[in-house]
Amino acid sequence: MKYLSTRGDPQRRSFCEILLEGLAPDGGLYLPERYPQVDAAMLAEWRGLPYAELAWRILSLYIDDIPAADLRAICARTYTAEVFGTPEIVPLKPLEPGLYLESLSNGPTLAFKDMAMQLLGNLFEYELARRGEQLNVLGATSGDTGSAAEYAMRGKQGVRVFMTSPHGRMSPFQQAQMFSLQDENIHNIAIEGVFDDCQDIVKAVSGDLDFKRKYRIGTVNSINWARLLAQVVYYFAGYFEATRSNGERVSFTVPSGNFGNICAGHVARQMGLPIHRLVVATNENDVLDEFFRTGTYRVRAARDTVETSSPSMDISKASNFERFVFDLLGRDGERTRALFGTGLVASGRFDLGADPAFRDCARHYGFASGRSTHADRLAVIRDTWQRFGVVVDPHTADGLKVAREHWQPGGAPMVVLETALPIKFAATIVEALGREPERPARFAGIESRPKRVDVLPADAALVKDYIARHCGAA
Ligand SMILES: *Cc1c(COP(=O)(O)O)cnc(C)c1O
Repeated sequence: MKYLSTRGDPQRRSFCEILLEGLAPDGGLYLPERYPQVDAAMLAEWRGLPYAELAWRILSLYIDDIPAADLRAICARTYTAEVFGTPEIVPLKPLEPGLYLESLSNGPTLAFKDMAMQLLGNLFEYELARRGEQLNVLGATSGDTGSAAEYAMRGKQGVRVFMTSPHGRMSPFQQAQMFSLQDENIHNIAIEGVFDDCQDIVKAVSGDLDFKRKYRIGTVNSINWARLLAQVVYYFAGYFEATRSNGERVSFTVPSGNFGNICAGHVARQMGLPIHRLVVATNENDVLDEFFRTGTYRVRAARDTVETSSPSMDISKASNFERFVFDLLGRDGERTRALFGTGLVASGRFDLGADPAFRDCARHYGFASGRSTHADRLAVIRDTWQRFGVVVDPHTADGLKVAREHWQPGGAPMVVLETALPIKFAATIVEALGREPERPARFAGIESRPKRVDVLPADAALVKDYIARHCGAA
């Protein structure tokens, strides 16, 4: 399998060539040349496989430059009951007949990002060892991504992590999760500023190509193809659990921000998994809901991006969205470049509302959407607790609110992806239920553990200096 860029660059690359990359050189995102197709016989064979085996089968369709036995071993040591809490890895929780939560958040950091990041950590270690290279992962986080990356890369050979975060702005639990790591290859940098400052610093450092090359700077952000591919697996697993036979169809609702999670659902559907609807759920930052309702994609300015109680979905633009639009436009790289390149930079928007392709979002690709507000989240958290005795996190609550608008009892089963556990967002749970959410035993007293973090002013030059001082290679 070869990979192409959504912006038309004729060059093709293999999986391991793009594994450690972010954007393609022409500014586009990587996608496989075609989506491998699954047929009834394959689905029948895959139903009932352990998760790690299922992952291996799916990944094998996309990766031909890692020997099969090695890839199988990587999957087997990634998706274990020890790391993800249950032998099923992503068990479904039924709420009522035909409505399920898919538990994606029982990994080390209690958010779904572990599902992909844990695999990425093992793939990075494998590939860097094979090349005899090192990588310094530089990132910016407002919470979930940074901790997932650190827990995936801790103790890994050949990888160091430098994670910037806005000083004092993450929840106490999130800070404790990251800063309590004592591994020598993990560096927490608290920036005196907001999340945007952290992102600007990462851009500035990565944009200094000499520095980037000299210090082997890489990223693990959500546009990484390997992360997206890892997420395809749990759509298959959720499908098998929610159905008895492969003749049935299932819908998924996905609490969405950067369109990474649901883009994996799109890939699964393009492979032939019988998915009925893919429902995009947003919070008040409704860039994506607006597109699927109207055909207008309107990037928000930083000041129009509101801070909500589902903060991991507070985005001004959806960095993976270009992948879907490329498919929607019949994989026209020129048009995709015109929309997402200079056009979007100049005007901050594009409009496909009058384009016949826009109708295909629903008809051919199964997409639907909706939005949710703080009041909706509180109501859903209360209702789900009172009726089913289940506490959901605020992001999952956004999903459940929107899912109910697109699901009828007796219709296609609806699977809502649970993207985090409530303990990560305790303040909102207390506001809704008047009680603290349950805390897994391994996190008891985490806030009082010793913290390993350095505070720096919002200055890219100082961050570069910090990296240079903390990495042996030069
Ligand atoms: C990252 C995240 C999301 C958004 O996922 P995308 O892939 O960016 O759409 C939703 N919920 C939680 C808890 C997250 O951490």
